[in-house]
Amino acid sequence: MAGRNHLYVPGPTNTPDSILQAMHVSMEDHRSPIFPELVKPVLEDLKKIFQTEKGTAFAFPATGTAGWEVALTNTLSRGDKVLSYRFGQFSHLWIDMAKRLGLDVEYTEVPWGEGVPLDALQARLAQDSNHEIKALLITHNETATGVTSDLAGVRKALDATSHPAMFYVDGVSSIASLDFRMDEWGIDAAVSGSQKGFMMPAGLALLAFSEKALAARETAQCTRGFLDLNDHLMHNPGGYFPYTPSTPMLYGLRESIRLLLEEGLDNVFARHQRLAEGVRQAVAAWGLTLCAKEPKWYSNSVSAVMVPEGVSAQDIIMTAFNKYNLSLGGGLSEVAGKLFRIGHLGDLNELSLVSALAGVEMALRDNGVNIEAGSGVGAACEYWRKTG
Ligand SMILES: *Cc1c(COP(=O)(O)O)cnc(C)c1O
Repeated sequence: MAGRNHLYVPGPTNTPDSILQAMHVSMEDHRSPIFPELVKPVLEDLKKIFQTEKGTAFAFPATGTAGWEVALTNTLSRGDKVLSYRFGQFSHLWIDMAKRLGLDVEYTEVPWGEGVPLDALQARLAQDSNHEIKALLITHNETATGVTSDLAGVRKALDATSHPAMFYVDGVSSIASLDFRMDEWGIDAAVSGSQKGFMMPAGLALLAFSEKALAARETAQCTRGFLDLNDHLMHNPGGYFPYTPSTPMLYGLRESIRLLLEEGLDNVFARHQRLAEGVRQAVAAWGLTLCAKEPKWYSNSVSAVMVPEGVSAQDIIMTAFNKYNLSLGGGLSEVAGKLFRIGHLGDLNELSLVSALAGVEMALRDNGVNIEAGSGVGAACEYWRKTG
């Protein structure tokens, strides 16, 4: 098919040319005396993206899913109680992993389309006067539903109840695109991956741990092998890895961080906010609704759009791909067939996003959804034109 594929799944995202070029390198000796010149600044600068000075950053040759496991197994023991909320496929999978690792997972079912219920959280923490809850597992941006939870609010609930539980966050689809303040919000373990806001191929689990979480290694009894932080802590400070790192990925990460810091994190967040708002204007102009139930839950990195009764979201996604070479995200698990997702994170601007909106519009009309041609594209463009 002539022309390029328009990649609007919420990860992997589009990779800027400069990152692709930075990764196009010959292999090199990862034990050489100059290798630390690459590794040490990358791990130090990675902390800036997590907005932490006190924490320690890590890069594992893995994906975000492994990042969940790193956080859990390095700091907890079988039978430890953790508290979580299930409101989409990703929060579901993290809970499922915690169970498989033998943790005592207490979780609440929250309607898909909502996020962490702060009042209920605070009430539960207040009730836990013996401090049996060792950690909170919070999915910052639920990629399956396009819902962002209020992490500052979670911190407030912990502080208001003087609860010492550790605060773990899945930031795979938020870090490097939505505001994420590890130190300010007192986050103990932050998990991300290379293929979303970092605009790289999948293949790196990117993490940061607080001093408190690192200290918990001393008592954590969960079995760990390849994902043991101790091996990294032994080698990273000298600028090395405990095994063979993927050097192209490290060069890519260096360029990714350079791009993010060059734009400035606040500008990155503002760009995502503004682009997302244009998408929301388009959805409203089509007369459709988001899975996210209220504006306070709206995600600036992904919009999950509900399709009208009687229409299959899967058909729309297939038309978009087969006819227009546009890749959209599907509905996962409980929302399969009911929604499609437009990923709007990473390397994109107004006009790249127009291609996604135009493709969605055509695919909707092709599948009998009665929307006016150009309505969504027009609404988004007018919003961007006036706010640029
Ligand atoms: C993509 C994603 C994951 C899974 O990451 P992988 O890199 O695919 O393992 C986990 N959590 C969230 C919120 C995600 O968006």
